[in-house]
Amino acid sequence: MAVVKPKVAFYWMGTCGGCEESVVDLAERILDVVAAVDIVFWPVALDFKKADVEAMEDGSIAVALINGSVRNSEDEKMGKMLRKKAGLIVAYGACAHLGGIPGLANFHTREEIFQKVYIEAPTINNPKKIIPQLETEVNGVKLTLPTIYNTVKKLDDIIDVDYYIPGCPPHPDLLMGAVQAILSGNLPPHGSVLSPNRNMCDTCPLERKEDKIIMKKFKRIHQIIPEEGQCLLEQGVMCLGPVTRNGCDAACMKVTMPCRGCYGPTDEVEDMGTKYASALASIWEETDEEDVIRMVKSIPSFAKMVYYFSTPSSILKRKKMEVIP
Ligand code: SF4
Ligand code: SF4
Ligand code: SF4
Repeated sequence: MAVVKPKVAFYWMGTCGGCEESVVDLAERILDVVAAVDIVFWPVALDFKKADVEAMEDGSIAVALINGSVRNSEDEKMGKMLRKKAGLIVAYGACAHLGGIPGLANFHTREEIFQKVYIEAPTINNPKKIIPQLETEVNGVKLTLPTIYNTVKKLDDIIDVDYYIPGCPPHPDLLMGAVQAILSGNLPPHGSVLSPNRNMCDTCPLERKEDKIIMKKFKRIHQIIPEEGQCLLEQGVMCLGPVTRNGCDAACMKVTMPCRGCYGPTDEVEDMGTKYASALASIWEETDEEDVIRMVKSIPSFAKMVYYFSTPSSILKRKKMEVIP
């Protein structure tokens, strides 16, 4: 008798494709995954149609791994459809988990972004200043596009998410661990982030040489030649390690780059940006108000740096607008 394998779907929303590529990073282990599950939907790699999934019974897919942020009306429709079809939904990667880099668009309006991308960008040749429309007629055929939202959302802003696999993109070991947990039924509590709840600094290979960090000036990594083996924060570089969850094997610090927080916060940190600002304030050399303002101003695009991957999940969510749809 044929063995019935659990059905699995992969889907992408507002994404760069890196999360899809990270599945390939499983290397030969992908063969074990393919042998254990029945992939029923994976638009980037296999020719299944949306209608095939729509025709499936509700709940018939064991797990849907969804990457990318919720950027437009099609993302939202597909997310809601997959929620109905799948027993478990996993937000895969920083964009689905926290809003990710696309979430930086929340510091601008849709109109500002269209203006920049379609009219002002130096690489654009658009003399008629054409902006994409929701409906266009070409040779008598009506073509439609989804509505781009003003506000980029994370996956759990539109549907209930069972688990989160963090990272931009996630480390392949986390995906393998999640697949094994799902196949064995040995699952953590609903809503868990499937990555160690430990601080990045705990496993960082760069060493703190001083007992106490005293910050006098912030630098960006390209402005210094870092001391080899020494903590970057101690050298004045903004490293988000103190507020970031582990699971990437300290990938950036191993090549002397600061952590920018793609794994998101540990369970104890409610908001990465404010927690980090508070940590910085505690190591800043000066304490009077003017000096603290000078400190914040010396960091270009402070909010974008501390919410690089997490603006939609932050307490800010977006830059204030007159109307937020
Ligand atoms: S989390 Fe990173 S790799 Fe994945 S889709 Fe978003 S930007 Fe790309
Ligand atoms: S602050 Fe950054 S460089 Fe320093 S120990 Fe933590 S993760 Fe490593
Ligand atoms: S070190 Fe930080 S930014 Fe780099 S991969 Fe890990 S969590 Fe992401």
